Amino acid sequence: MLQKFERYPLTFGPTPIEPLPRLSQALGGKVEIFAKREDCNSGLAMGGNKLRKLEYIVPDAIASGADTLVSIGGVQSNHTRMVAATAAKIGMKCRLVQEKWVPHYDAVYDRVGNILMTRLMGADSRLVEDGFDIGIRKSWEDAMQEVRDSGGVPYGIPAGASVHKYGGLGYVGFAEEVRAQEKELGFKFDYIVVCVVTGSTQAGMIVGFAADDRADRVIGIDASGTPEQTRTQVREIVDRTADLVELGRPVRDDEIVINPDYAYPAYGVPSEETNDAIRLAARTEAMITDPVYEGKSMQGMIDLVGKGFFFEGARVLYAHLGGVPAINGYSYYYKEG
Ligand code: PLP
Repeated sequence: MLQKFERYPLTFGPTPIEPLPRLSQALGGKVEIFAKREDCNSGLAMGGNKLRKLEYIVPDAIASGADTLVSIGGVQSNHTRMVAATAAKIGMKCRLVQEKWVPHYDAVYDRVGNILMTRLMGADSRLVEDGFDIGIRKSWEDAMQEVRDSGGVPYGIPAGASVHKYGGLGYVGFAEEVRAQEKELGFKFDYIVVCVVTGSTQAGMIVGFAADDRADRVIGIDASGTPEQTRTQVREIVDRTADLVELGRPVRDDEIVINPDYAYPAYGVPSEETNDAIRLAARTEAMITDPVYEGKSMQGMIDLVGKGFFFEGARVLYAHLGGVPAINGYSYYYKEG
């Protein structure tokens, strides 16, 4: 589906699929859980889902004649870490707007984890007071203008690389990769569980899996706490991406499955159940998930297994999208383990 698009390699290649037998057993052994380790996809500053998206965006950035990547996210944004990494790797400058998306308690929240690495990689990262919003922000447009005013050529990448024209392509590639791995494994996954916030990860998967008619088996677990806005954004990215890859049919609304039940109490704030899920994955499989994104999709998957949402014997593929560095800004929650 992606042959006609240029791709700039930023990742190691196909990500491993790992069985999680001890987690499956701890949840009653009724389903078989696997993880696709997008969190281990690259040597660039600890990797993660954004690199798959950026691989299809970088050729456009280079062709545009830009010298500065401009992007936006929260203080502990994985996305801005990945844009900073990409800029360093391709020899561009990087200007970032980091918003106060999350109320936080840890004294070092704005100094460790993602933002620490972002600063190390030379990005010009500036903190602003605005709160959480996945849409296009004035501060981001202002940052682009500032780059122009100082004689640079900016290339804008929106939050999560999602509402970029090519933002959905990377995760169409994920679906193609899973299909190839299923051939080797000799079975197909019945469900894919994925965290959703800015939308292009799940949207890309939906388009990719619509090609073999199982888009509705991609279960999005909302971590935004603004699920209507996320759903609208996923819908738009699905439509744009389906057009781009010439899917050949519209994706129906019922093929976009987003569960809003686990984002509470708010974006970036883990519930007790989120932290229990993080502990369970860590103690059974040494698989570390973060309190903002993957901890919530892990919580969702665990709860859905308990509720019998997945049929007995189902093979469930948990997409681990990365994000572990942020955990350093949440040490307060885990003082007792
Ligand atoms: N998981 C991690 C670790 C992320 O950094 C993000 C980014 O927002 C997501 C999940 C959600 O992906 P998306 O924004 O494409 O919906």
